[in-house]
Order: sequence, then C-alpha cells, then structure tokens
Amino acid sequence: MQNPVFIPGPTNMPEFLRKASDVPTMDHRSSAFAEVLHPALSGVRQVIRAASAEVFLFPSTGTGGWEAAITNTLSPGDRVLAARHGMFSHRWIDLCQRHGLDMQIVEAPWGAGLPADRYREILTADRDHRIKAVLATHNETATGVVSDIAAVRAALDAAGHPALLMVDGVSSIASMEFRFDDWGVDIAVTGSQKGFMLPPGLAIIAFSDKAMQAVERARLSRGFFDIRDMRRQYAAGLYPYTPPVGLICGLKASCDYLLAEGLDAVFARHRRIAEGVRAAAGAWGLPLAALSPDLYSQTITAIRTPAGVNASEIVTRAARTYGMAFGTGLGELAAKSFRFGHLGLLTEAMALSGLSVLEMCMADLGLALRPGSGVAAAQEVYRATVAPNSGWPPERALRDTRISDER
Ligand SMILES: *Cc1c(COP(=O)(O)O)cnc(C)c1O
Repeated sequence: MQNPVFIPGPTNMPEFLRKASDVPTMDHRSSAFAEVLHPALSGVRQVIRAASAEVFLFPSTGTGGWEAAITNTLSPGDRVLAARHGMFSHRWIDLCQRHGLDMQIVEAPWGAGLPADRYREILTADRDHRIKAVLATHNETATGVVSDIAAVRAALDAAGHPALLMVDGVSSIASMEFRFDDWGVDIAVTGSQKGFMLPPGLAIIAFSDKAMQAVERARLSRGFFDIRDMRRQYAAGLYPYTPPVGLICGLKASCDYLLAEGLDAVFARHRRIAEGVRAAAGAWGLPLAALSPDLYSQTITAIRTPAGVNASEIVTRAARTYGMAFGTGLGELAAKSFRFGHLGLLTEAMALSGLSVLEMCMADLGLALRPGSGVAAAQEVYRATVAPNSGWPPERALRDTRISDER
C-alpha cells in the first residue's frame, strides 16, 4: 500500500476503477465495444450537465483535447481571445500560436480569475466579429483559481458576439460544478486522470451544436484528431482506429459511480476537503496564490511560501524523506509556492495525512510554524462538517452501480 498522492493529477485511483480499466482483450469491432462506448459518452454528458452535446474520446490527454478543440473548428489566422493567468492558460495559448492562430491575449495576474469585464469590452469593440473563439480555463491548476464561466458567456451575449466559447475543464470536470448547457459552453475539454480518477490516456471533449457547425468550415489541418471520423464510426458503434478499450470501460464505470454518489455530493465532498486544506494554510500563516475567496478552487490549493523559502525544497523533501507527492509551483509561481491537489479519491483522513507530512517537511526545513497547527485547523473543519460514515467510496453508491470491489 503506497501513500496517497497530492498532485493535481494524475489523481489517486479507487481500486474498483483501476480494476474496471483492466479488461481482457476485446474485439473492438464487436457489439461488446459499442455497449461500453455509448454509455461512457452518455455518462460524460450527464457529468458535464449537457443534454445533447456530442462527446468524443481520443487516446490522448487534456493537451490533445485542446488541439482537437481548435483544429476542428478554426482556420489559420483566425483571431482567438484568451487570458493568461497561469501555466495552463499559458500553455493553451502557446498551442494555438503553434497552429498559426492570431491570439489576442489579456494578461492577468497569476492568482486572478478570468477577466470577464475585459472580455466584454474587447468583444463589444470587435464589431465585425473577427474573434472566432474565446478560451477560458475554468480551473487554473497552477494557481488554484476557479473562474466564472457564466460571466464569460454573459460577456459574449452582452456583446451579441458569435465566437465559440471553449472551456478547459481538465481539473474541474467531475470534481466541481460544471454546467455545459447553462453556461452556453461550445467546447469542453478534460482528461481521464483527474476528476474521473482513471489512468492517464484519454482526451474527453464535448461539442455543442454550434461547435459542430464550425467543423466543416474549419481549415486547420487535422488528421488523427478529426472528429468527423469519430462521429461516423460512433454512429456504427465503432471507432476510427484501435480504441483504448480499458480506459473507456473505466470511464463508463467512473461516470456510473459519480452519478450514483450524486454530483452534488461529489462536489460537496471536494469542497469539504478543500476547506480543511485552506484552514491549515491559514493556521501556518501562509497565503494562498488565489487572490480572493471567491476564486478558491475546490480541487487544488496553491500555497505561497515566505520570501527566502524555496517551496520546491518542501516538495522534494516530502517525496524523498516521507514518500509523498505534492505539486511544485509552476511558471511565475515556481519556487514561490507548492500545490496540494485535492481532487478525485480523497477522504478527510487522507487529507490530514498530507497536511501532517507537509508540517514535518516545513519544520525540518526550519520554517517558523508550530507542527500540528495546520492539522488541528483542518480537524476542526472536518469534525464540524463530516458526513456520517464518510468512508470512501460510499457503499450505497457502489451497490447502486453494482461495481464490485472484489472482482
Ligand atoms: C492537467 C491539466 C491540463 C493538461 O492535461 P494533460 O492531460 O496533462 O495534457 C490542462 N489544463 C488544466 C487546467 C490541467 O489541470
């Protein structure tokens, strides 16, 4: 039994999902494959709260999902509006530039949310609709910041602007509220190894009707990621090349599980764990990278260290001395912060073990903090909010989905 990980993906895998992904060889041209594929697609639709979005699964990762989103809907030289406020928004912009898109970039502080007001001004000024897409990183995993996607949709609507709204939900989908239809999302992107608690290897993307209409017009080159091939083959219960059958079986099981636990319960569980982690940071006297409470992510907390303390040393010490993985600071926050990932499979008890190891590391490195103070603050939160029998996974959900932990 190894220690849990506290990196913001890949996340800890429940045994029943790891087993669900480990299937004997299956002929993917048989009807057995279609019986897994279609429920997996419909499960994803329910998790993102989309009534009719088209979902596609590529053997890839979230990054591949970004590429599939843009190459299927845009043309060389198209203008794209994006904000840079962390490493992941930065990397999506970089990918777009490599494809020859004309990026209109709003620079925002690392720790801030998406500047919806700025988006609104820019979209309103863009009278001849040269902007074809607006990118939004729902949850900036580098800073632990969640942004208001409904506000971005409102900015588009206020400007009467037809650009596609493309949302990176890699570290939010399946762990935090995500409302594809209500927010008017045109493309959502995620991967298998974060909220779905599966091994890495799947890009999961959803397209609205409007995004589907852009597919034929798009002239960026695409081969492997052409969703038209996926779409044709899905209709026949097939796949355009060899599918990662195990991961798709895992995805079906993960959706079954999440929907049986109940999305609201899943999100509440993440919020509860996150509040304990934030309470610990407060007790240590360490500020968060997120600039205000309305921006706090429920899946990842980036904690700043005092000047002169290299945060990477804390992460290295945790790994080398105590065998526990945390996230390092990224980009502008490199060495200035460390990250505690709290998404996917996690209980209060697991979170307390992570906080406790961090305290040992910080004490070992001579930081002025009282060991136990962060753990005690988190305990207070968890004692006050814990649900009865909050062992994980809830047995009822396992029973309802008839997922066996034994197999
Ligand atoms: C992890 C992550 C990605 C990158 O996903 P990969 O699966 O590593 O390609 C993109 N965006 C966000 C917000 C992420 O957290």
